[in-house]
Amino acid sequence: MLEKTVAELSKALRSQEVSSVELTQAYLEKIAAVNERLNTYITTCDELALKQASKADQLIADGNQNPLLGIPIAHKDIFCTKNIKTTCGSKMLENFVSPYDATIVSKLNKAGAVTLGKTNMDEFAMGSSNETSYFGSVKNPWDTSKVPGGSSGGSAAAVAADLCAIATGTDTGGSIRQPASFCGVTGLKPSYGRVSRWGMIAFASSLDQAGPISKSAEDAAILMNVIAGPDNLDSTSSRTPVVDYTLNLNDSLYGLKIGVPKQHFTEGLSADVEESIRLSLKEFEKLGASITQVDLPNNHLSVPAYYVVAPAEASANLSRYDGVRYGFRCDNPIDLEDMYMRTRSEGFGSEVKRRIMIGTYALSAGYYDAYYQKAQKIRRLIKNDFDAAFETVDVIVGPTSPHTAFSLGATTDPVKMYLEDIYTIAVNLAGLPGISIPTGFGGNLPIGMQIIGKEFAEAKLLNVAHQYQQVTEWHKSKPSENFGE
Ligand code: GLN
Repeated sequence: MLEKTVAELSKALRSQEVSSVELTQAYLEKIAAVNERLNTYITTCDELALKQASKADQLIADGNQNPLLGIPIAHKDIFCTKNIKTTCGSKMLENFVSPYDATIVSKLNKAGAVTLGKTNMDEFAMGSSNETSYFGSVKNPWDTSKVPGGSSGGSAAAVAADLCAIATGTDTGGSIRQPASFCGVTGLKPSYGRVSRWGMIAFASSLDQAGPISKSAEDAAILMNVIAGPDNLDSTSSRTPVVDYTLNLNDSLYGLKIGVPKQHFTEGLSADVEESIRLSLKEFEKLGASITQVDLPNNHLSVPAYYVVAPAEASANLSRYDGVRYGFRCDNPIDLEDMYMRTRSEGFGSEVKRRIMIGTYALSAGYYDAYYQKAQKIRRLIKNDFDAAFETVDVIVGPTSPHTAFSLGATTDPVKMYLEDIYTIAVNLAGLPGISIPTGFGGNLPIGMQIIGKEFAEAKLLNVAHQYQQVTEWHKSKPSENFGE
């Protein structure tokens, strides 16, 4: 039962094949049994979950048709949850309990989803391997010697290991898509502003976006139907009308124009990933799509531009952790200055500190024009490249990551780690939607394909992904019971 999709569970709940309480209990038992090995959850909320589940069972009995009613979900620990710890993977917020729910959490609560707990993540969402988490690294359920990807690695691993039916994640430069790729699940980063950022702890505000990590594109569509839309509490949330994301899942791909960026198939792409993506493109051709090459000439500038913009915004956002307003405070400060200094030195991990230093430097008087301003100009060029490509194609398809999951501890050079997002970061800089879906294996490790769309074309991406998942089985593959050990 635990391996089922949200769509399947929703039916099972309605036909009383299983109750939400039974389902929730089963997930909680499995989490208790394996979490020590996978480290996917930082917090579980058993009592709350069972309470929500029993309420859901009542509503189901009353005939309530909401597809998420009674469905056990996991939230990335970046989303504020009332009365539940929200750590953001940091010592700084180790014991922080939010006084309110993030908009996405309250919307999901209202839809009747059952909160199982909060998933592990890179500290303040900075990382591509989950190794920057203060709570220790998550292990990839396909092979526990490998990373799950990051920063939403806990959510991706939890979905892959059937420790929840679906999960939330966030993506600033690739953090939904890359872990989805490494863990063999589906991950959608919506367009910037499609989902409210209220109550989602800020990393880089002009890039951050929340979205679903799921077992299928259909499930991602079901979740999007609840979380997408404007929010008066987030002035950057878009007023563009929301569609029903499940409505066009079954549209034919006949006549679909797919663009393949040559910059996503260059040196550095591993042979098994390339082969898998090429085979998937053939699959699309069989479904009636046509493939052409597109040019994204400034893609190589996306990682450097991101590593100015994101740290700059992060340095501003993280200035609030001063030992006064939130979370951790150092012991016995001698004066105010000492408290600020030691709170931040002791409360933040080294990757976060690195970014704060890069960011404050890039924003300082005299350097602002040379770095931040310049990076913003590159960002425009990157957006222009996508706009030009989308004049001739409907979607852009390529690999999500240059390779499959790498070994824990193997990547210690920060710049090498930053290059992990070489295919995903441009999408955030341009504010576009992107989805990663499983397309095969390299050895025993999953491979992911990224599909990029025009702004607010989430429904199109979900349609393309769903059609692929109707004719392939990759998304149904499961890691072994002993997680490859
Ligand atoms: N890996 C990128 C970083 O470390 C992206 C992280 C994210 O999307 N949150 O910044």
